[in-house]
Amino acid sequence: MARVFDGDKLVIATHNPGKLREIGELVAPFGVAVASAADLGLDEPVEDGDTFKANALIKAHAAAQASGVPALADDSGLAVEALGGAPGIHSARWAGPDKNFKEAMERIWDLILESEDRRAHFVCALALAWPDGHSEVFEGRVDGTLIWPPTGDKGFGYDPMFQPAGYFDTFGEMDPKEKHAMSHRAEAFKQLVTACFQGRRA
Ligand code: IMP
Repeated sequence: MARVFDGDKLVIATHNPGKLREIGELVAPFGVAVASAADLGLDEPVEDGDTFKANALIKAHAAAQASGVPALADDSGLAVEALGGAPGIHSARWAGPDKNFKEAMERIWDLILESEDRRAHFVCALALAWPDGHSEVFEGRVDGTLIWPPTGDKGFGYDPMFQPAGYFDTFGEMDPKEKHAMSHRAEAFKQLVTACFQGRRA
C-alpha cells in the first residue's frame, strides 16, 4: 500500500519553469499549497541515476530533506526509437547550459534524417518523498511521432516536434488542458493520485 499524502504543503522539486507550471496546474485542484525548490532557494542535487525513476527520487528526497516538507519531483525526457532511446535521461543536457531546445531538436532531426523511423515517446517519473525518508514513485509514457519543422509555442522543451499518436497537433500546438489530459506527466500523475491523493479532490 502506498502512503497517503495528508499534508497541506508540497515542495515541487524543480527549477524548470515549464515543469513547475504543469505540475502546479495538476496539483491545484487538491487544495495543497505549493512552493518550488527554486522559490525556496534549494540546491539542485546531482542527478546521477540511470533511470527516470532513480533521478526523480534523488530530486524528491533532496528537496524533502532540505525543506522539511514533502516534495514532489519529476524526471522526464524524450526517448527516440531510432536513437536507441536517446536523449532519454539526458534530454535536458542535450539542450546545453543555455537550454537551447531549438538546437537540441535540430540535433535530433539531423541524427534521424536517414532513418525511416520517426517514433519517439516521452517518459515522466514522478516521485513523492517525505522528510522521514519514505517515498513513492510512478511512471507514465506517451507515444508519438517526431515531425519537422517544430510547430507551436504553447509547451516547452521538445514539445514542438512531438506529435502524440492519434492527434494532428504537436504538444507545442495543443491547448495546455488537452496536453494535461493525456501526456506522460498526466499518466504518472493519475497513478500518483490513485495511490497517494485519494479522497482529496476539492
Ligand atoms: P529533467 O527531468 O529535469 O532532467 O529534464 C527533462 C527534459 O526533458 C526537459 O528539460 C525537457 O527538455 C524534456 N521534457 C520533459 N517533459 C517534457 C514535455 O512535457 N515536453 C517537452 N519536453 C519535455
